[in-house]
Amino acid sequence: MDARLKTLAIIYSAHKEQMTEKTLACAKGCATCCTRNVTLTTLEGRRLYDWIASEAPHLMDEIKKDAHKPRQIPTYTINGLTDLCMAGDEVPEESSDPGWGACPLLSEEGLCQVYEARPFACRSMVSQTRCEEGGFAEMDDLTLTVNNALMQYIEHTDDKGLTGNLTDVLLLLEDEANRTAHEAETLTPPDTHFMANRPAQVLMVPPPHREAVGNIMQEIQAKKG
Ligand code: SF4
Repeated sequence: MDARLKTLAIIYSAHKEQMTEKTLACAKGCATCCTRNVTLTTLEGRRLYDWIASEAPHLMDEIKKDAHKPRQIPTYTINGLTDLCMAGDEVPEESSDPGWGACPLLSEEGLCQVYEARPFACRSMVSQTRCEEGGFAEMDDLTLTVNNALMQYIEHTDDKGLTGNLTDVLLLLEDEANRTAHEAETLTPPDTHFMANRPAQVLMVPPPHREAVGNIMQEIQAKKG
């Protein structure tokens, strides 16, 4: 197994552990955040693609059926954003509209059809209040920090990979040659739909959260061995 996939599983598990300590309003069937605007790294895409190929291959048809529809195309990655902020540079705008419709992996009953393999962007979209009431997810500052830090860690782990929209990443990785190239860390951006990942130069963690995030990172390192 690609060691990076093992690290990803450990990061997902560390995040799950953190979220079980929170009181969240998120529940089965609540799908306000399940839009066409989910972005992820190719490492997460490989985990997701492998799960779909083995458990529910028909879902690739759902992806293709809606592939002509508008969706968020990332113009920066989380580590790219951190580098821009550190340099005091302007952050490029990203077009994103929940009105573009639901995630192609959401069932008609409002259930995620890839729940076990869903990307971190979905795992981190937690809320203390029902999103449909306020129109946005409400989370405490520490949760936001932990989410950002773990997202940075995932990109860092996949620093030779790419970030793209869920639809684009799955279509890219459907090609075995691209999955092989990802494993060999030789994947190159095929077009403007993807951003090249970067290593994390620094984690975006404010001083009051450093101890908590440091403990999570230490736990992850210990599990990686
Ligand atoms: S992958 Fe699942 S959790 Fe994520 S947006 Fe799609 S349906 Fe929702």
